[in-house]
Amino acid sequence: MSLTVLDHPLAHDLLSRLRDADTDPAEFRALTRRLGWLLVMEATRDLATEAVAIATPMEPTEARRISERLVAIPVLRAGLGLLDAVTDLYPDTVVGYLGLERDEVTLQPRDYYAKLPPMDGRRALVVDPMLATGGSGSAAITHVQRNADPTSITFICVVAAPEGVALLEREHPEVPIVAGALDRQLNEVGFILPGLGDFGDRLHGTF
Ligand code: URA
Repeated sequence: MSLTVLDHPLAHDLLSRLRDADTDPAEFRALTRRLGWLLVMEATRDLATEAVAIATPMEPTEARRISERLVAIPVLRAGLGLLDAVTDLYPDTVVGYLGLERDEVTLQPRDYYAKLPPMDGRRALVVDPMLATGGSGSAAITHVQRNADPTSITFICVVAAPEGVALLEREHPEVPIVAGALDRQLNEVGFILPGLGDFGDRLHGTF
């Protein structure tokens, strides 16, 4: 398993603004999209390319174009905040949706909505901004593995907690994680510290 945490001045700046309790939903959405670009760039730095022959205005030359396609799977509802970042950078990305909630009896994550496209030959990016306990992230990855056949899966989040990273490491060691930050710990109700609060609420303005 590999965990990559962004270490770029722009990522630090965007995260500090996302964490700030005074940031309103409109700015929060814009900041998430910009940080998403950095996360997606990192998650796709090893995307396959192929040689193509082109002609510049000056002479024929050989260049490289991307030959591997993506499928983005935002985990509802907070994951929607990162979707535009994927399709901004890779417009031919296909999109699947996964809704997960906690079963009140078993306390385990349960999928209440799933709409996944065919993924053959595509790399799947599962996007879920807060990797807290890791329960929903792990369930999302398991759901994709059982119901589709992407070439590989990468998990993208804005903030990760050590507990969530450890769970994914145990249950899905083959899935690389790309995170904007690795925070200190979870509190007693599963929120990340220092974190940024409830990502879905801050994104959608539902306080
Ligand atoms: N989900 C959130 O939105 N925030 C957290 O801190 C943990 C899970």
